[in-house]
Amino acid sequence: MKKVVKFGGSSLANAEQFKKVKAIIEADEKRAYIVVSAPGKRNSQDHKITDLLLMSYQLSSHSLSFDEVYNLVESRYKDIKQDLNLSVDIESVLNEVKENIQKGASKDYVASRGEYMNALLLSDYLGLPMIDAAEIIKFDENGKFDYKTTEDLVGEKLKDVDKAVIPGFYGSNEHGQIVTFSRGGSDVTGSIIANGIDASLYENWTDVSGFLIADPKIEPEAKPIGLVTYKELRELSYMGAPVLHEEAIFPVRKKGISIQIRNTNDPEAEGTFIVHDDWEKIKHGTITGISGKKGFTVISVEKTLMNEEKGFIRKLISIFESNNISIEHIPSSIDSISVIVSDSQLQDKQNKIKEEIKIYCKPDSVNIYPGMALLTVVGRGMIKTKGMSAKIFTALYESGVNIRMISQGSSELNIIVGIENRDFEKAVKAIYRAFN
Ligand code: ASP
Repeated sequence: MKKVVKFGGSSLANAEQFKKVKAIIEADEKRAYIVVSAPGKRNSQDHKITDLLLMSYQLSSHSLSFDEVYNLVESRYKDIKQDLNLSVDIESVLNEVKENIQKGASKDYVASRGEYMNALLLSDYLGLPMIDAAEIIKFDENGKFDYKTTEDLVGEKLKDVDKAVIPGFYGSNEHGQIVTFSRGGSDVTGSIIANGIDASLYENWTDVSGFLIADPKIEPEAKPIGLVTYKELRELSYMGAPVLHEEAIFPVRKKGISIQIRNTNDPEAEGTFIVHDDWEKIKHGTITGISGKKGFTVISVEKTLMNEEKGFIRKLISIFESNNISIEHIPSSIDSISVIVSDSQLQDKQNKIKEEIKIYCKPDSVNIYPGMALLTVVGRGMIKTKGMSAKIFTALYESGVNIRMISQGSSELNIIVGIENRDFEKAVKAIYRAFN
């Protein structure tokens, strides 16, 4: 069975990286469909090609010259071509894209050219055909991904193509116009191709050796996660910074295809396996990861006999809905309920919300407490294991962290605690050390 391999922007940022990619592909015959991102940063001061293209689009749409920015795009592709001695006529493609930008091409078209041109170079370098994603990845007229049509097209088009390079991040609609996924979307393309060909594995090559149990900026000793289930990853990525695009899980999850996150700069490392949810190997008493975010506000509403008043919660929730605020958590007790929302959602609507709650819900009191962080401890090894929460809360108590909220997901896969923003780093460290 074949594997789908996706290389991120930093894995294809220059000729040196292209060489590593070639060695990886040639080391395993099963690596058949190669999905590529646009060239990323070569160092921390550098620019991503997608950002430069979007900047060119922006300047041009305001009738400003974008030559200077576009020159950076051109020289990056030309350097790779020259350093690898390639023959593909990338110059003509670069000129065509430039002309199209001048003529007012769409934002999605412009953004997608980073992947398109990188795929042209890699296909030449590997001596493999390139299949344009516009032919196989389809979107409907509202810009929504068309799963069924795409699945059929991928199966059909790749049936007779043994190996190929495919640009990530975009597809097209029924009028042939280019449509992109959200940023980082090449991960999604890889997952769609893996689903479409029933791949044995989806390898996602990036510049880190998989996920770590905790953010290394907080806990420098954090060990890698060897294996995580899709569900666990959802719980982790929901609050932390994702290595993988959030939507990349869904296509492969449908068929139970595993994803392996690997490091182009350290191909010997095993990285992290993301596997189906009923994976047997559970190490009881362990956690898989810790993640979280600062910047939440608690809106606490008290009303005696609240639980007997029909429609009370509905009224409360509808206030948030009508103010276009999504809710993170709703812990409650017999006479009180708290609504937790992120500060970015709440913005400056605090007073308006408070007034509306007073008018519609007639509570005894409404209080707003800003400055909260949410932290989630995730682990399939926590299920039906005694003492897990005791360990977490003891660690927090011993490091002097004040807990303001506790919630356990109904699948027993995670425990969420609300703490003060200022205690966040201390809490992550304390929990990590309690289990490692
Ligand atoms: N090049 C696009 C971006 O920078 C998509 C990707 O890299 O996956 O967001």
